Order: sequence, then C-alpha cells, then structure tokens
Amino acid sequence: MLTILHHAAQLVGIAPSGECTLLPDGSLCIRDGIIEWVGPAAEMPAVAENERDVTWIDAKGKVVLPGFIDSHTHLLFAGSRIDEFEQRLEGMSYAEIAARGGGILRTVERVRRASKEELKALARPRLRRMLQFGVTTIEVKSGYGLTPTDEFKCLEAIADLDTEGPWELVPTFLGAHAVPPEYRANRDGYIHSLCEEMLPEVARQGLAEFCDVFCETGVFSVVESRRILRQARDLGLRLKLHADELSPLGGAELAAEVGAVSADHLLCISEKGIDALAASGTVATLLPGTAFCLGVAYAPARQLIERGVSVALASDCNPGTCMTENLPLIGSMACTQMGMKPAEVVTALTRNAAAALARADRIGSLAPGMQGDVIVCNVSDYREIFYHFGINHVECVVKRGRVVHAA
Ligand SMILES: [Zn+2]
Repeated sequence: MLTILHHAAQLVGIAPSGECTLLPDGSLCIRDGIIEWVGPAAEMPAVAENERDVTWIDAKGKVVLPGFIDSHTHLLFAGSRIDEFEQRLEGMSYAEIAARGGGILRTVERVRRASKEELKALARPRLRRMLQFGVTTIEVKSGYGLTPTDEFKCLEAIADLDTEGPWELVPTFLGAHAVPPEYRANRDGYIHSLCEEMLPEVARQGLAEFCDVFCETGVFSVVESRRILRQARDLGLRLKLHADELSPLGGAELAAEVGAVSADHLLCISEKGIDALAASGTVATLLPGTAFCLGVAYAPARQLIERGVSVALASDCNPGTCMTENLPLIGSMACTQMGMKPAEVVTALTRNAAAALARADRIGSLAPGMQGDVIVCNVSDYREIFYHFGINHVECVVKRGRVVHAA
C-alpha cells in the first residue's frame, strides 16, 4: 500500500534537534504505514507502473504536518460538570467547589455507576472530534474509578477503544487522582491499595504504559507521590506527574528525581524546578486550556524553553477544568498567552508530545522510517493554523498511511 502526499506548499518536518523545518513544494510517500521518502516534489522517485493500491493526495497550496499528539487527557468519563463552570464564573474557587461535593469525586461517582460499554460510547465522539482536529495519537488516563474494579474497567475501555482505532491511544493509570471518599479517614489505606493491590495488577495485565499521580496540596503530597511513583517504576511502568499546578510544591523536582518522562501543568513551577527538568530531560507538558478555563496565570513557557527544557502542549480534556478536544486552539493559546512562537507550538504538539509519551523514535516527525501519521491543513502557511483560531483547518488525516478522515 502506497500513499503519496504531493506538492505541499509547506511540508513541516521536525528535525531530530526538535527544530521545526519547512520544505516548500514538498512531497511524501508512505509505504505500508511507514514513511518511505520525504523531499522536494521535483525529486520524488517515479512510482512503478505495476504498483498497486496507490492513494494520491494533492496537497497543492496546503500545509502537510505530522499528526498532532495529545499527550495528556482525561477523556474517558461520564456526566457533565457544567454547573461547576457557572459556579466558577460566580467567583467560587476550585477548592470551594470540591468542598461542596463537586470536582473530581463527582465524576468518580458517575464513572463508578457506568458500565465499560457506556464509558466507551461516551468517549467515542470525543475521540472522533480529536481526530477531526488532526490528533492521531492520544494519551488517556484512568483516575475516575478509584477502586481496583473501576480503575481496571476504565483501563480496559481505553484498550478496547485503541483496538477499534483508527486513533492510537496510550493508557495511563491515574489511581492517584484523588483519595476516594471511603478512604477519607484512612489515606494510608488507599495508598497501600494503590501500591500493593492496583499497581501490581496493572503491571501484570499490561493495562497501562504510564503511571501518573496528582501531586498537590490536599491531594497527594510529595512524599506520598514519591512512594507511588517508585513502586510503579519498580513494576516497569513509565512515569508522569501532575506537578506544581495550584501551588509550588516541588512536583517538578520530584518528577526529575524519579526519572519521569513528563511533568505536567507546571503553572507554579519554581526556579529550582525548571533547573531540575532541564538537567533530567523530563518533558514539561503545558496545558494552557486549563489556565484559560480557570482564569489563572499560565505556565512560564518562555522561561522553560530558554532554559533548555523540552516543552509539549496538550489539551487536558476533562469535564471539570478543560472541556475541549480542539488541540490547535490550545496552540493558539500557547502563542497569545504564553508567548510561544508558532514553530515552537508545532514542535510542542508533535515531536515533544511524542517524547512525552516515549515515542519520539516512531511518531511526531516526518522523516523516512517514521510512522505514516500525517495531516493536511487547508492553509498555505502553517502559522495560519494558530493565527486564524477557533476553527478547524484540518482537511485530511492519515493514520499509519491510511486516510481516516477527510473534511
Ligand atoms: Zn490532568
């Protein structure tokens, strides 16, 4: 099977250094799901006459990029939290809403009542919308079950949805998203269940690739997060961390210390935290949509980039603090609210997001040997994707060499 994207006005590749590169009048060939050739259209090798199953995609006047990667989502959930949206507009804080029985635990209650099939049915339209916005690989976290049965139900739903495709899903175990109500008087009991009951089973069954912890005042402390992450690491899982979102607790430092692949949020990261990420090579995954929805200050993207930290951008799609599947819009927020340049945003949505999922050797750039995950945008300059914001410029989505969406 051969898929050829021909004569792109700009073919946006990402160099191994992470730099965004532009090739005018570029073409790209994908054979059996893997990129075989990338270069100027005039130099494209001739297609053999006996070649069968060839798909030509005319990209004249358009921009071709690697498929976007959303490396931080909570998109498997049931129930809406639209009333909390309005409560926040009336001035109530996230903590006040949680104290009134809102927040994560409200979604937990709904997810526990939902069957695996119901959760999958609710997630499918969200995944489809993401695909339409050019997102070809999506990380999905558990964390709204908080019992072994409900957490495993969510992880199995994610595995089923991945098999269904055409999207590619990366499962993360986030049993440490909150302390469930039944353990309120026995936090240690829940952490024991996470470490000795859930994590060993997640590892044994291969239900998740990553383990994540919500390290925050009132959720899991640095000491508790370290204990959970070390156990996950010992069991062979890769690590992520919700770090320094609402307070500078030292989450970034902890992520660096335990060798986490990414530290996420980082709105309140300290100077020491920035140094720690730069030294460890941990990817900083920024989620400006959440700051936008909560009306709080954004993460210091410029400082992170200038100090040599790899920055990825993700949606944080979740029912409480960021209800969107529109990853390019997150890119526009990164430009206007965090001072990131369009080229930095492209890298953050592709190669660095792949690095945040430990997949930079396979996805996130357009080069021979990489997986054929490619999108075509109906713009002639890639900067237009973020400049002309809030609408969908994605016209064609190719996953593993197959056209999976055409507008
Ligand atoms: Zn999150």
